[in-house]
Amino acid sequence: MRVVIKVGTSTLTYPTGNLNIHRVEKLCKVISDIKNAGNEVILVTSGATGMGVGKIGLLKRPDDMPTKQAMAAIGQCELMYTYDKLFSEYNHVVAQVLVTKSDIDNEKHRRNFNNTLTRLLELNVIPIINENDSVATEEFFIGENDSLAAIIAVNIKADLVILLTDIDGLYTSDPRSDKNAKLISEVTEITPEILAVAGGSNSKFGTGGMITKVNAAKIAMEAGCDLIVASGADPDVLYDIVDGKNVGTRFVSGGAVK
Ligand code: GLU
Repeated sequence: MRVVIKVGTSTLTYPTGNLNIHRVEKLCKVISDIKNAGNEVILVTSGATGMGVGKIGLLKRPDDMPTKQAMAAIGQCELMYTYDKLFSEYNHVVAQVLVTKSDIDNEKHRRNFNNTLTRLLELNVIPIINENDSVATEEFFIGENDSLAAIIAVNIKADLVILLTDIDGLYTSDPRSDKNAKLISEVTEITPEILAVAGGSNSKFGTGGMITKVNAAKIAMEAGCDLIVASGADPDVLYDIVDGKNVGTRFVSGGAVK
C-alpha cells in the first residue's frame, strides 16, 4: 500500500510549541514498522512554525509575515533534525521536500516534483514534505497541509491518505461542547450537511481544522483515493488503519478514476 500520512502541529508539539517527544518517537517507530512490512510511506508534516516559536521562546505565534517565516525557517530545521535522528534509529533514510503552491499549479514543476517523489520511493526513502513556509508569499500559499497531503496523494496515485489530528474524526456536532455528538465513521459523499458539521469559517469547531480536512477529502475522493481522519494521540492507530480496521472517519472514494 502507498500511503500519505499527514501529522498536524497539535499532534507533534505541546501547546508551548515544544516537541511532544514521546509521541514523535512513537510516530517514527510505527511508521518505520509499517514501512518494514512493505508499505510505501510519504509523510506530510506540519509543525515548523510551532517548533520555531518554541525554540526561540516566543510567548505566542507571531502575526506578522517576516517573523512567521523566520519561525518556519528555524522550526523546519529542528523538525527535520528530529525526524532524521529518530528514523535513523530504525535504519530508515528520510528526505526533505518543501513545496509552494506554484510547484503544484505549474505542470512542469509538478512533474518534476512527482518524479522526485517517485525516485525517492524507489530508493526506499521516506519523503517528508511541508509547504515552504519561509518563502511562500500570501498569493502563492496553500496555507494548510491537509489539502497538500491530498494533492500529493492524487499526484503520486497513493492508495490512502491519513490525516492525524487532535480529534477522533468527524462528529455530528462538536464533542467538546455536546455530549450527544456522535462520530461519523464513514462518509461516501461530501454533502452540504457534511460541510455544515465540519463547520464553516465562523464556526468554533471549524477552527479545529475539520473544514480543511473535508476539503482535502473531496480532493482525494474525486481522484478515487480514500482518506481517513483519525486521532494522532496514539500513533499505534496507524497499524489498525493499515490493517483495514474501522478507525476514525473514512471518506470513501467509491473507487472512481485513478
Ligand atoms: N506548514 C505549516 C507549518 O509547518 C503548517 C500548515 C498546517 O498546519 O496545515 O508550520
